[in-house]
Amino acid sequence: MDLFDKCSQFTEARAMQALGLYPYFLPLEDTEGTEVIIDGRRVLMIGSNNYLGLTSDPRVRQAAIDAIGRFGTSCTGSRFLNGTLALHQELEARLATFMNKDAALVFSTGFQVNLGVISSLVGRGDVVVADKDDHASIVDGCLLALGELRRFSHNDLDHLNRVLEKIDPDTGILVVVDGVFSMGGDLAPLPEMIQICKKYNARLMVDDAHSIGVMGGGRGTSAHYGVTDDVDLVMGTFSKSFASLGGFIAGDKDVIHYIQHHARSLIFSASMPASNVAAVLAALDIIETEPEHCERLWDVTEHMRTGLKEMGFNTLASVTPIIPILVGEVEKTFLAWKMCFDKGLYTNAVISPAVPPDQCLLRTSYMATHTHEQIDRALNILGEVGRELDLIN
Ligand code: PMP
Repeated sequence: MDLFDKCSQFTEARAMQALGLYPYFLPLEDTEGTEVIIDGRRVLMIGSNNYLGLTSDPRVRQAAIDAIGRFGTSCTGSRFLNGTLALHQELEARLATFMNKDAALVFSTGFQVNLGVISSLVGRGDVVVADKDDHASIVDGCLLALGELRRFSHNDLDHLNRVLEKIDPDTGILVVVDGVFSMGGDLAPLPEMIQICKKYNARLMVDDAHSIGVMGGGRGTSAHYGVTDDVDLVMGTFSKSFASLGGFIAGDKDVIHYIQHHARSLIFSASMPASNVAAVLAALDIIETEPEHCERLWDVTEHMRTGLKEMGFNTLASVTPIIPILVGEVEKTFLAWKMCFDKGLYTNAVISPAVPPDQCLLRTSYMATHTHEQIDRALNILGEVGRELDLIN
């Protein structure tokens, strides 16, 4: 048996390509945010995480350009040895204040935050408890940790309670959930989870990748619920509302200090380039001083949600700018994706393992910069496809 046999036997993706239904790794030839050019065609983008539309904001772009002029294109080393710039520390101080936490630590991607934080805190003998719908980076962080992983059914407080009840009270416990779930667009019930965690002396970490800039005046789900002090660790990414690349963890000083000296994805990986840091700082200025972007995002979102629901689509439990459209099986989802694409609309086709195999969906997500004309166009196309494929009740 050759190790590479599995590669030549992996035919599913090529079969979809041959049918012209393959929706992944499509190169964007150009983008100005709400519309992109793919294969020479301009299509309307409702499948990005550029929630505030700041990737095209001239101030964010200029900040990145200026930082390259001053610091060059790369730090060429990790935060630990030779890759910490004063700019990283400035961003950490700004984020700690913004998030109302003691301290913050910046990593090169959000994925690396979850890997490094969970694996450094959950040592041998500890237990990490994760929601079954948590993001892949949380799952991978849990698998990397030397402690044991236990999972509970999505947003099921009784199940969380039962899982925690069975753990020896002398064990260190970390519960990790997405604040906004990245495929369903629903929220974790943080106030109730906090009560349960307190009962079992468990620490709570919330992945706010999709909620920073979006929920709670931009400060995420903890701020949305008014429970910031009771959430021990808040994780965020810069690859969505912040229009950049990188991520952070915010929490108590001692905990952040410990993570800084133990998280291998921080210590053994090159730091964020100055241009990315400067873009985040510029985006943060905008998020702090111009609430109208967030307000506009919610106008767009509610317009879309109302329109989709009125047409009879099943948008699951979404209450955020991530609005899934339930399709069902894989083939039908690829077909729905392709029909939208051919009509000039870019969505995301989501299949297992990101969602259960019988709950494949089109993931749609919205931007503050979508115009009314674009939203109406998106609704019209989705309506046509929904009627043709019988996705409407
Ligand atoms: N957590 C969640 C919930 C995410 O959706 C993502 C990215 N899709 C990440 C973490 C990883 O973030 P990054 O893109 O910064 O690696």
